Amino acid sequence: MSESHFVKVGVLAETLRGERRVALVPDVAAKLIASGFEVVIEAGAGELASFTDDAYRKVGLMVSLDRHALLGMADVVLSVQPPLLEDVAQMRAGAVTISFLQPSTQGALIAALATRGVTALSLELLPRTSRAQSMDALSSQSSLAGYKAVLMAANRLGKFFPMLMTAAGTIPPARVLVLGAGVAGLQAIATARRLGAVVEAYDVRPAVQEEVQSLGAKFLALTLDTRQGEGGYAREQSEEFLNKQREGLAEYVAANDVVITTASVPGRQAPRLLTAAIVAGMRRGSVIVDMAAESGGNCELTRPGQVIEVDGIWIDGTTNIPSTMALHASQLYARNVTNLIHLLGSPGDLKLNFEDEVIRGCCVTHAGQIVSERARQLMGMIAAQEAIRQEVR
Ligand code: NAD
Repeated sequence: MSESHFVKVGVLAETLRGERRVALVPDVAAKLIASGFEVVIEAGAGELASFTDDAYRKVGLMVSLDRHALLGMADVVLSVQPPLLEDVAQMRAGAVTISFLQPSTQGALIAALATRGVTALSLELLPRTSRAQSMDALSSQSSLAGYKAVLMAANRLGKFFPMLMTAAGTIPPARVLVLGAGVAGLQAIATARRLGAVVEAYDVRPAVQEEVQSLGAKFLALTLDTRQGEGGYAREQSEEFLNKQREGLAEYVAANDVVITTASVPGRQAPRLLTAAIVAGMRRGSVIVDMAAESGGNCELTRPGQVIEVDGIWIDGTTNIPSTMALHASQLYARNVTNLIHLLGSPGDLKLNFEDEVIRGCCVTHAGQIVSERARQLMGMIAAQEAIRQEVR
């Protein structure tokens, strides 16, 4: 792509079942246009997030009924979920695509993007630095999910969250346990506290203790010897550790009405924190919301995408929780990707500065290559190489 081609932004309609978000919302698109970009959106793309085609037209976007044509003209392709494999053939060589690319499961797509000469940026791989915060879609979406998970639990629990003193007697507050105090967990703690629950939390990273306490929750110190990770992330713990952790947690789980689990280790299967036996120790009517349902589940009984009841205990395995708050999820996502676009260059002047750790960190394919070591690790090197070989053939 010649540098002057960094002008047209194309926004895809999401195709994944249940995905209600859209990558760009009208007021954020208007700012992109004001800064000199042209923006085209696929017809109906914002519908499920409450943004009509007319709302986009009003702020100066073109609305296209033709996905192929949109892909063919876009210098930057925006979506929430990864583009479809069949989209790649329509993309321009040298175009940039920004999405949650999901490198661990999208090997064939990534190989196709590389072969096509598309520069693919994966929002999951954005470094978690303060400079990258305004572009950090993983955080913005996790925060929404943490909030919503508590509302989902409150909605199912047959109890009040706050303590209530009524003429008919006093109702004690609900008790909520949050496992994993990253972005989603901290927002879950804050939300449960705002609703008046008594909240406890646990994380393998002792560094979060102060944050948990500052939100008014109690941090459970299980006195376990945790393996420390890098870059603020947790590391995968040994099975021996997880056994001890489960033993230590069981009595707290049993004492709580709601357990929100958010524990996750990047690129790995979610740690198993709740066994069937631990769940069986909970009171009837208790609720578990397993926010790690998509990555294997923190609870042994979770069924991804389903809410089940096991002996009177609810286990909510809802996936893609941010999509249930599509309006604000899209708004925050739109701001994240727009900030990233501005980092890539200005209209007509794509810079793609690989000295910049943010760009280097999230760029998966560029100029015909898979350039991200991290993505290669996540994809599994061999699978990726095989896919490229097949594409080239
Ligand atoms: P995540 O979704 O990868 O994991 C969620 C939480 O699960 C983490 O806090 C992790 O420690 C915890 N966990 C893992 N294994 C566990 C186990 N066995 N038991 C209990 N808890 C377990 O995390 P995240 O929300 O994406 O955040 C990861 C880190 O990145 C945090 O330190 C966060 O503060 C940091 N962060 C920094 C920035 C920034 O500076 N720009 C932005 C976002 C997040």
